[in-house]
Amino acid sequence: MTQVLSVTSECAPLMKTGGLADVAGALPAALAPLGIRMRTLLPGYPAVLAAVTKPKVVSTYDDLFGGAARLLAATAAGLDLLILEAAHLFDRPGNPYLADTGHDWPDNPERFAALSWVAADIAAKGIGARADKWHPDVVHCHDWQAALAPVYMQDAGTEIPSILTVHNIAFHGLAPMDRAKALRLKADDLGPDGYEFWGQISALKAGLMTATRLTTVSKTYARELMTEEFGMGLDGVLRDRAHVLSGIVNGIDTATWDPATDPLIAEPYKTPAGKKPNKATLRREFGLPPAGGPLCIVVSRLTEQKGLDLLLQVLPALVDRGGQLALLGSGDPGLEAAFQDAAAHRNIAVKIGYDEALSHRMMAGADAILVPSRFEPCGLTQLYGLRYGTVPLVTLTGGLADTVIPASPAAMAARAATGLSVNPLTAHALSDALIEMCHVFAQPKLWTLIAKNGMKHPVGWDASATEYAALYDQVTLQT
Ligand code: ADP
Repeated sequence: MTQVLSVTSECAPLMKTGGLADVAGALPAALAPLGIRMRTLLPGYPAVLAAVTKPKVVSTYDDLFGGAARLLAATAAGLDLLILEAAHLFDRPGNPYLADTGHDWPDNPERFAALSWVAADIAAKGIGARADKWHPDVVHCHDWQAALAPVYMQDAGTEIPSILTVHNIAFHGLAPMDRAKALRLKADDLGPDGYEFWGQISALKAGLMTATRLTTVSKTYARELMTEEFGMGLDGVLRDRAHVLSGIVNGIDTATWDPATDPLIAEPYKTPAGKKPNKATLRREFGLPPAGGPLCIVVSRLTEQKGLDLLLQVLPALVDRGGQLALLGSGDPGLEAAFQDAAAHRNIAVKIGYDEALSHRMMAGADAILVPSRFEPCGLTQLYGLRYGTVPLVTLTGGLADTVIPASPAAMAARAATGLSVNPLTAHALSDALIEMCHVFAQPKLWTLIAKNGMKHPVGWDASATEYAALYDQVTLQT
């Protein structure tokens, strides 16, 4: 049995701000049938500690980046957890990265360096008493928060292979140069050919340079990352390491996201026709009147990445044709305010906040889900849309391009389309795409065919879990 240590700053259902948590939370169960035991190393945020009962102390640290810490083994929500309890770093309420002010905690570099340090320590020494000592065969790190683990492993001469998965290259984990010592990094490694990024230390760059293998969450994003347009300054590093970079698309938890059994929706269903009562419920919930056009949803962080500023500009193209928009999201205050203003229109309704249960009801009740992202490493909401017969309208970028078959004439002729697309993303093109969507929606047979195709499209973890298992095999055989 291959033993994998997964290192992550968030893991659903215990702590989630985005897709990373869903992936980290779903992988262990997806990999178990393939003979892989995955243990998840996670910071001991208050919410995580509150979710476990009877944790077992497996090691202690007198001084872990400025305070005492303990490593606890526990299970929760079916996950085999190693929790880093370090009050000076993680005993803070709310969001794992942001203080009440909405700004990053100033010691984020040290907080997640500590997580990475402990991962490397587990890799070097294993954990537990002699009789039941546990050693990982592979250390699988997620994003910048875990990206220093391969560095510390390399510095300690640990030969266990490491994998770094990029879920979103927009976040580099930057720290001022004068924190290098506090971060336990070697001065020799900090030049421009090393971990330096425009005068600062980049944890992500350091990890990208040192991990045995690199992955990201779709094949298209793997290619895009090596271009100036998408690489966010790290495209050169990634081009240098192209031979160890691959893309493995995310799946979704098809048990939690199953319209036939979902306890969170008004009326479970197996075909697009069964969405009708859920649509009525959704309209009621959002205060939207009956209408003849498509009921569209957005469930998203409200950030520049997601292209929703462009959607705001072109909403008349939708509502002038009887379409409607129900949006659930939070994030950028300017976007929140702009969408709230837009909701003055009777066919636009907006809820600012984060609400997992409501997101299920939206998937069940809507005709279409809009995901006009400027870049999208994988994207999950289009996958929920496919599963729920809610036709995705997506930009052809990253994982959106890899998971949705747009209704081109060829795809329609082959009866294979699962969604609609906008490409390239401009306000004008998005407006045209919304008009086209209304046009297709007005042809119920065509629309239902696309929705049905989507419902049949595999969106679970089976194929991708097999790809991760093969990768673990490759790296363990190589070393
Ligand atoms: P990202 O990780 O960039 O935020 P993804 O599409 O990969 O985007 O994942 C976002 C996840 O967070 C999805 O599971 C989505 O349903 C969920 N989500 C985002 N915003 C909200 C919200 N306001 N309420 C409920 N769920 C949300």
